[in-house]
Amino acid sequence: MTGCPKSLHTDQQCSTQMASGQLSRAEALACSGCLHACHVLLYSDTPRQLFGNIPIRHIILMQMRFDGLLGFPGGLVNPAEETLEAGLTRELSEELGVALPISVEDHVNSCHAPASSPSSSPSSRLITHFYVKKMEEEQIIEVERAATSTATDHGHEVLGMVRVPLYTMKRGGGLGPFLSHSFIGSARSQLIDSLLRLNLVAPEELHEALTRSLKIHSHTAEDLKATLALPALKRKQL
Ligand code: AMP
Ligand code: MN
Repeated sequence: MTGCPKSLHTDQQCSTQMASGQLSRAEALACSGCLHACHVLLYSDTPRQLFGNIPIRHIILMQMRFDGLLGFPGGLVNPAEETLEAGLTRELSEELGVALPISVEDHVNSCHAPASSPSSSPSSRLITHFYVKKMEEEQIIEVERAATSTATDHGHEVLGMVRVPLYTMKRGGGLGPFLSHSFIGSARSQLIDSLLRLNLVAPEELHEALTRSLKIHSHTAEDLKATLALPALKRKQL
């Protein structure tokens, strides 16, 4: 048994229990045998409109990761060597090409990662620390530029930065389809929780988008089943 206090060994997960399944930052740091990962949601307001008539409202940055999943910028931090926030800033300089200062005030919550997480094992539980930082639109655009030019992880750990579409178009395009993609760990819950907490999307709009997401999911399953036949066909041709 490693150094986690007893209370940390319950199967708490932020993804399903945002309000109750959390650890305080201090409790999390007291767990000497745990691994720690820090990630941040960076966002700004924007007056811009898509196609001149759909308000974009806010820019929220996520990334397409090396593993094909959507997530937030950040990574593993060793609290024995650096503070959580300094470690997150170091990760951001690698992934975004900008050493954005992150402070304790930007911290939102700390949670045990879902048990299915690759780094999660009984002997070294992963704790994920989530941060949110509001920026000016020009700063966010600067980050997007640096992420494809100076960031050392571009094309390796990070395949590309993406903005979250917060609008819903007449035929349903936008937030619903975005939320139907695959996300790492608790990233989808962290996004949805932040949208509600920061009042970036109204609860009823979000409910509608998630309902659409679920429909897209069943459609995607059918689509995937159909494409499963293609590799088999190719093998037969060889
Ligand atoms: P990274 O270096 O960014 O892949 O993150 C370090 C660890 O945190 C990896 O084991 C990831 O699987 C995990 N991870 C990344 N993002 C999240 C997230 N949003 N929620 C839970 N775990 C995450
Ligand atoms: Mn990362």
